Amino acid sequence: MTTITLALSKGRIFEETLPLLAAAGIQPTEDPERSRKLIINTNQPDVRLIIVRATDVPTYVQHGAADLGVAGKDVLMEHGGEGLYQPVDLNIARCRMMVAAPVGFDYEAAVRRGARLRVATKYVQTARLFFAAKGVHVDLIKLYGSMELAPLVGLADVIVDLVSTGGTLKANNLAAVEEIAPISSRLIVNQAALKLKHRHLQPIIDAFRQAAA
Ligand code: ATP
Ligand code: MG
Repeated sequence: MTTITLALSKGRIFEETLPLLAAAGIQPTEDPERSRKLIINTNQPDVRLIIVRATDVPTYVQHGAADLGVAGKDVLMEHGGEGLYQPVDLNIARCRMMVAAPVGFDYEAAVRRGARLRVATKYVQTARLFFAAKGVHVDLIKLYGSMELAPLVGLADVIVDLVSTGGTLKANNLAAVEEIAPISSRLIVNQAALKLKHRHLQPIIDAFRQAAA
């Protein structure tokens, strides 16, 4: 039996992927939010889900430990996408990657006069490329969460982070000053698996594409 493994992260991606799985006729037999299991079976004996950190999804798929996965464009930009096909924009977990600064910080003026910016983010690769393309010199400070704090305590001038409602920025007296990219989650597929397991994978890809449209 050919086994198909799909990598997902808990939380919003899992929740928003459930209807797409259902459209492909796949129903998990357990809820990862309740279960501590990291391998979740489904109603289809040859399809299983693995539950990994959002940032680890491309790594599992790239190395073929999972055939498919669902990953945010933010995570894919940071990973680089090597060894992956990205056949479907699922249009879920939508938000925007933004540069944000304390209210009152004149970002435009700082950019215009060629100031060196201290940028705190968990997206260091993406931030590096973005500011290099603008010709802005930056010192990148890698953080793993709560980026909003960094400018408030003098760790950074600006942050690069995901913004949906802007509520967290507002609560911390920050404002978005520039958009880097619109973000949504993509279906990703291991390139070798797509060839070797094409007969099994293509119907899942097609069902996701149809359901996402
Ligand atoms: P944690 O928040 O526990 O550190 P994480 O940040 O890796 O984990 P999530 O916050 O669930 O995990 O984010 C997973 C993915 O969901 C992100 O990679 C991004 O694509 C998307 N996402 C993150 N924040 C938002 C948001 N505010 N609105 C919509 N989508 C988002
Ligand atoms: Mg998060």
